[in-house]
Amino acid sequence: MDCIPRNKFIRSLLLLSLLLSSAAFTLAQPEQPLRSIAYRLAMPRPVSHLFEVTMEVELPEDQLPKSIDFQMAKWSPGRYAVFDFAKNVQQFEALGGICPRGAQCKMPTFPVNRMDDQTWRVSTMNTHRLTIRYKVFGNDLSGTFSQLDSRHANYNGGSIFMYVVNHKPDPVRLEIDPPAGWHIVNGRMTSMDQREWQFPNWDILIDTPTEIAPDSTLDEFRVDGKLYRVMVHSFGDEGGKRAALVRDIEKIVRAETAMWGPPEFDSYTFLIHFAADDHSGDGMEHLTSTQIIEPGALGETGVSGDTLDTVAHEFFHVWNVKRLRPVELGPWDFTRPANTRGLWIAEGFTNYYGHLMMRRSSIWDDTRFFRTENQTVTGIENAPGSHLMSAEESSLLAPFLDDAPHAQQTNLANTSISYYPKGEVIGLVLDLLIRGKTNGKLSLDDVMRRMYDEFYLKSPNATYYLRGRGYTTEDFQRVASETSGFDLTDFFQRYVRGCEVLPYDDALAYVGMHLVREQAREPFNAGIGVDWEKPGTLTIGSVRNDSPAEDAGLQEGDEIISLGRKNVSRENWLVALARYKQGDRVPVTVKRDRRTIQTAIVLREPERFEYKIEERKNVTPTQKALRAAWLKGL
Ligand SMILES: [Zn+2]
Ligand SMILES: [Zn+2]
Repeated sequence: MDCIPRNKFIRSLLLLSLLLSSAAFTLAQPEQPLRSIAYRLAMPRPVSHLFEVTMEVELPEDQLPKSIDFQMAKWSPGRYAVFDFAKNVQQFEALGGICPRGAQCKMPTFPVNRMDDQTWRVSTMNTHRLTIRYKVFGNDLSGTFSQLDSRHANYNGGSIFMYVVNHKPDPVRLEIDPPAGWHIVNGRMTSMDQREWQFPNWDILIDTPTEIAPDSTLDEFRVDGKLYRVMVHSFGDEGGKRAALVRDIEKIVRAETAMWGPPEFDSYTFLIHFAADDHSGDGMEHLTSTQIIEPGALGETGVSGDTLDTVAHEFFHVWNVKRLRPVELGPWDFTRPANTRGLWIAEGFTNYYGHLMMRRSSIWDDTRFFRTENQTVTGIENAPGSHLMSAEESSLLAPFLDDAPHAQQTNLANTSISYYPKGEVIGLVLDLLIRGKTNGKLSLDDVMRRMYDEFYLKSPNATYYLRGRGYTTEDFQRVASETSGFDLTDFFQRYVRGCEVLPYDDALAYVGMHLVREQAREPFNAGIGVDWEKPGTLTIGSVRNDSPAEDAGLQEGDEIISLGRKNVSRENWLVALARYKQGDRVPVTVKRDRRTIQTAIVLREPERFEYKIEERKNVTPTQKALRAAWLKGL
């Protein structure tokens, strides 16, 4: 019961901070919607990487404000680090009037004040019609950023479209002017030659990532009467694998819609890039589409499999996070980072189900599924941060963890865990506990469906943004307890809000399995993490707290020259270390700044373990049946 007043308190704090943060810019703003907001996107010079955005705004005649504020978001939904998209905006200007299409107009330039890092204030000068123009630089192939170059334009709307302050709820129009011969593809198109879109609000505009290219391909299939498009843009050799990729995507769609039922959209678009640059990689969920970027070429070994793994994750987000969502996830305040306790459900459970759906769609077999879960458990149980940070706290710290750039040194390698794998293992254990305790009658699938029903389908709309309302982690705890028929207070206290090791064996026993812990096969590293960004040197990227490396005084940034008086490289240092045993003193030479430092590592008992989910002896037919129902989604 403690959490009820606390939540009310948090909610009123949130409301207060929302009011305060917008107050500075709201006083002169009208409450009623503007008469119209229209965007035009042009890309006349792709080699410059400059998108050209025009906004035409018609103001209400009866309540004309003195000025109007335009703002660039600091981050965009689905990626929680703050990137400050305003840093790539240039040549912002405001003009009086709106010029009809095709006409030549001479419009007066209006005064613009830059109010802060993300806000431009335009004086209206008693005019009801304004045109805003700016350019925005984009040269990252990523679901979070945008790219314009001679190959294509690919954008995430949050990184290029400003909103009118206090008017995110207003309907908006978009017209795209592509280079000759380039096609426009997105998750809200009705035909291949469409140039104009209407969106109910700015949030949906930026939820519609778009690809514009001369040579992308489009495949289609239908499931339950819904149209699915697979757009592929390959910068490397496809090796004839595209048709098989599309067939496997259809298997994933079938497995996931079998769990949830037909989705509410009429069509959905997978926007997939094979970057063939060995570094661009991302997956980003949207209401009727996803952007997936693979660093390899489709024809290369393993790339198709990696893509499908991402597809299974992103498509699960159609329900979990895009529609069924934590209360803080939409509509958003883009002047500050988002804080939610629920990402271990929104992302972690999506990780769990993504992998389970790879099994249920028969793309993976049991062995492949368990290998993935073994890696996840091994990663979490070996992470020093898993003893210090709970699933809820990790969710709250997403702005520090989710691809966040760090100019300042941090100790996050020792103190944090990711809500992705932590949520995945919570999902695995909770699913099996519910299946076991209800003799297979119910599962986490039922909890998720009931959450979707209660919060998305059946709740009155809480905001302009989307159907239904968001949930709190207390809501999830209640629904999970009610659905499964047992009280989860203790489970949440210990494993979600606390840092205790999950009851893996209690859960796995129901399906005739258990968790086996073995000494890690990988060589002992004495607590040293390598900085792989510094090629050609063996530079320390992180030092594990309380490790032999820390005892020896080694630091991040030290370049290791020799171990045991022999010169070492990043390729052979682990082999060199493996020649020693527990208790040995290994002399180390490192370069730090302009000095050479001699020290010694005193080796201890290895601390890394490998975890494997294995079958128990004497498995009963009931346990086997429960396992089959779980893995096959029966
Ligand atoms: Zn492209
Ligand atoms: Zn995700």
